[in-house]
Amino acid sequence: MIMSKEEQLLGCKLEDKTICRECGGRCCQTTACEASPYDFDCDRNKMIAALESGNYSIDLIFDKQRKVFKTIGNMFTLDLSFLINSHEATLYMRPRNQGKLIVDVIHIGNRNYPCIFWNKYEGCRLPYEERPRYGRGIIPISPGVCENIYDTRAMLLKEWHEYNEFLFQMVKRYFDEDWYLPLGFTIR
Ligand code: SF4
Ligand code: SF4
Repeated sequence: MIMSKEEQLLGCKLEDKTICRECGGRCCQTTACEASPYDFDCDRNKMIAALESGNYSIDLIFDKQRKVFKTIGNMFTLDLSFLINSHEATLYMRPRNQGKLIVDVIHIGNRNYPCIFWNKYEGCRLPYEERPRYGRGIIPISPGVCENIYDTRAMLLKEWHEYNEFLFQMVKRYFDEDWYLPLGFTIR
């Protein structure tokens, strides 16, 4: 199998603990890094297990016009058909942020929420190989200055597209309260 340039780079360990220690983990303190379906071997049962462990969340990449949201009467909800047909927005998975719910698709205000796997003494407690793909893709250049070998937004839109209905149904079936309790939203 021919590997892409990104895959070859990902095969090398891109982390630099010295730079990240000096930085203090600014990225991980802001929000968790993004996972790929390949982090779960594209296996929906593994995705369910990760969500049920309480360590992973479902998040949302919005489209620019915010058409992914719709209202039904006075209810605010997600437009599943837009998610399935547009390729401009997607649900996806990432580690949970500390103090946040499993369904974590609306971000209001500028407050940062550190990743559940991060603490200030050890940094990321996951071994490098077990970190989400788009966290492994970060190349630290100097403290707080990094590049990612991927165009993360484009990759998330591409890779998670086929899981939109599955993640939508997961929210409805198992985590509905996460969706409507804090903000009064609902999924129908
Ligand atoms: S140097 Fe970059 S990758 Fe390392 S902790 Fe800081 S922001 Fe994160
Ligand atoms: S999984 Fe690790 S690298 Fe990714 S945000 Fe969390 S603490 Fe940071």
